[in-house]
Amino acid sequence: MRVLITGGAGYIGSHTVLHVLGAGHDVEVVDDLRNSTASIMPRLEDLSGRSIPLHVLDLCDRDATDRLITEGNFDAVIHFAGLKAVGESVAQPLDYYDNNLNSTISLLRAMGRHGVRHLVFSSSATVYGDTALPPFQEKLPTSATNPYGWTKVMIEQILRDVAVADPSWRIALLRYFNPVGAHESGQIGEDPQGTPNNLMPYLAQVAVGRRERLAVYGNDYPTVDGTGMRDYIHVMDLAAGHVAALQALGRLEESVHTWNLGTGKPTSVLQMVAAFSRAVGRDLPYEVVARRPGDIAESYADPHLANVELNWRARRSVDEMCADTWRWQSLNPDGYPDA
Ligand code: NAD
Ligand code: UDP
Repeated sequence: MRVLITGGAGYIGSHTVLHVLGAGHDVEVVDDLRNSTASIMPRLEDLSGRSIPLHVLDLCDRDATDRLITEGNFDAVIHFAGLKAVGESVAQPLDYYDNNLNSTISLLRAMGRHGVRHLVFSSSATVYGDTALPPFQEKLPTSATNPYGWTKVMIEQILRDVAVADPSWRIALLRYFNPVGAHESGQIGEDPQGTPNNLMPYLAQVAVGRRERLAVYGNDYPTVDGTGMRDYIHVMDLAAGHVAALQALGRLEESVHTWNLGTGKPTSVLQMVAAFSRAVGRDLPYEVVARRPGDIAESYADPHLANVELNWRARRSVDEMCADTWRWQSLNPDGYPDA
């Protein structure tokens, strides 16, 4: 297949580029580099031994997106591009609705016009909102607690509607739990701009000396040790899930499929601090502070559907997630060089 990967210079997209190439497909990347850098591309080409065209354009630009799809002759698209910071989405909701919805609509119009109807979409466990209790199953109703989450709920609905209007579409809605880790080479990984919002990149920056200590957001939740629990999934397992979904789209009868990509096993903040400390070889400093507004106590997947229908399962342990994150962070203390 010829596969277009939107947001392919970003964290999850870049790891997926390697997996899709490894499965024998051709890949092109489109990214406007608003949250990534072109300096990742030579690394991806070195790791894969393949040439990977990068198209630098904003998917909200309908003419440019249309040209890209017309000229690319793609069989399928994996759509990662979007803004993803929860706190920023609360402060700047219009930026999130504008970019995440318009880029997707622009992409869908171009795909529809040129007969490219296989799409894998990056959704999120955030669509389970804060009402149901885990393990989360795909059939639960969706909702959200912030504008970022609402963009995922809305795009899922847009995609279902598109498939009702034209059932020849084949669409995978992949709901990721908490992607962490890095490629085992240590050459690519997560490189957040500014202060990291998420646990793993923050811990990695504490370990490498860029931050003094981790603030643990609350230890009075009803969990094993009082700290929040999440379903961390190694980004390379997540990447493999995209290849499995891509291949499944060709053989499945229904137009739209929704799959959780998670391990099904939750880990607490303190368990993660202990695992990362083992990877680094020393205890990492932390202090317990107040809860972070909007956090839920516990989130983890029921991954059964993906296990059965995609013949996929997350295999890497929390210790591997920490070892691989640490390899990336210690080899690249300041992330990617600027392009
Ligand atoms: P990322 O920011 O590293 O990658 C997204 C990429 O999209 C960036 O390289 C950015 O430059 C690009 N982009 C954004 N808007 C664009 C536009 N209009 N045109 C072209 N390129 C654009 O993020 P990530 O962590 O790799 O996440 C990828 C996808 O997975 C996102 O849709 C995100 O919402 C979703 N997701 C991420 C997580 C997570 O914890 N990282 C969890 C669930 C879902
Ligand atoms: N967390 C924390 N300190 C941080 C960042 C996160 O204690 O600096 C906690 C957070 O409260 C949650 C868990 O770590 O219980 C995972 O948070 P993250 O932001 O990585 O993922 P999300 O909450 O979006 O699932």
